Amino acid sequence: MADNCIFCKIAAGQIPSVKIYEDEKVIAFLDVGPVSDGHTLVIPKQHYTKVHECPPEILASITSVLPKVAGAVFAALAVDGYNVLCNNGRAAGQLVEHLHFHIIPRKTGDGVFSHWPAFKYPQGKAEELAEKIRAKL
Ligand code: AMP
Ligand code: ZN
Repeated sequence: MADNCIFCKIAAGQIPSVKIYEDEKVIAFLDVGPVSDGHTLVIPKQHYTKVHECPPEILASITSVLPKVAGAVFAALAVDGYNVLCNNGRAAGQLVEHLHFHIIPRKTGDGVFSHWPAFKYPQGKAEELAEKIRAKL
């Protein structure tokens, strides 16, 4: 357990949460600051901060639970869709430094995430970036 980590404390049952699902490795509970009704968080019980720091087998445990929980949220709330979102690092909006996946129920036209700042690469830039990334695989 990481010092002063609120999600480690939730996983250990030391602070309360509104639980949706729990198994040996994973727990899902309602977000206390939802952006829509039923906004759910799915976390590993063990403390990791970011996706690339988490062992693949732990990520596999999380991703094997995601369809069950997302499907239940989708069916129970009669929404039109949902986002699965994982913020990694403060720059990406991560405030709680314990890996977590948001399941955010969505209704058509709800205005959640209304801005998606898409742009087009100039000639050659995509290939240049891909080469840099592939070199680190
Ligand atoms: P992020 O910005 O991706 O780190 O999101 C952290 C999320 O955790 C936010 O949506 C918070 O509302 C949520 N959160 C923080 N503390 C708790 C808590 N004690 N129980 C449930 N959700 C929490
Ligand atoms: Zn933690």
